[in-house]
Amino acid sequence: MTVRQKYYAAVVSWFGAGMVLLVLSLEITPWFVVPLVILMIIFGSYTMSLKCWRCGHPVLRGRPGDFWYVQAWIPAQCVSCGAQLK
Ligand SMILES: [Zn+2]
Repeated sequence: MTVRQKYYAAVVSWFGAGMVLLVLSLEITPWFVVPLVILMIIFGSYTMSLKCWRCGHPVLRGRPGDFWYVQAWIPAQCVSCGAQLK
């Protein structure tokens, strides 16, 4: 499974589970917001951990040194080594 497929699978599962928890929190009890926040933390941690196949640079991060720069989508090429990200 490529890094892009892992990312899309995570986005789709996050969106599906997030919508279910959102509806449950609106219709049943607001306490369903707690697992919704936990799901967002897990999703964010997982996607931030996806790495380039060649150099191991996290694909959602900017160039090495730009610590706070995070992008929402995987670029076509790794910003660190220039490898094609499939
Ligand atoms: Zn790389």
